[in-house]
Amino acid sequence: MLNSNTVTLVACPTCQTKTAWSQENADRPFCSARCKLIDLGAWASESYSIPQQTSDEDEIFSEDLVTDPNKSFL
Ligand SMILES: [Zn+2]
Repeated sequence: MLNSNTVTLVACPTCQTKTAWSQENADRPFCSARCKLIDLGAWASESYSIPQQTSDEDEIFSEDLVTDPNKSFL
């Protein structure tokens, strides 16, 4: 039989506030809808910046492969 007094607590990914992981908390693992939206916004901005940062590295690797086709450093 489940102990109804036992509540699983999780740390909100946005503000680290301990919040209950329960059916009643529709925003879990976030403590509130606000933190949920903040995290989604941060994730969206990260996904936009990552391709811009890696494009330069991709070009560098491509040049190395072209100039040194026999050089295997991977
Ligand atoms: Zn929060």
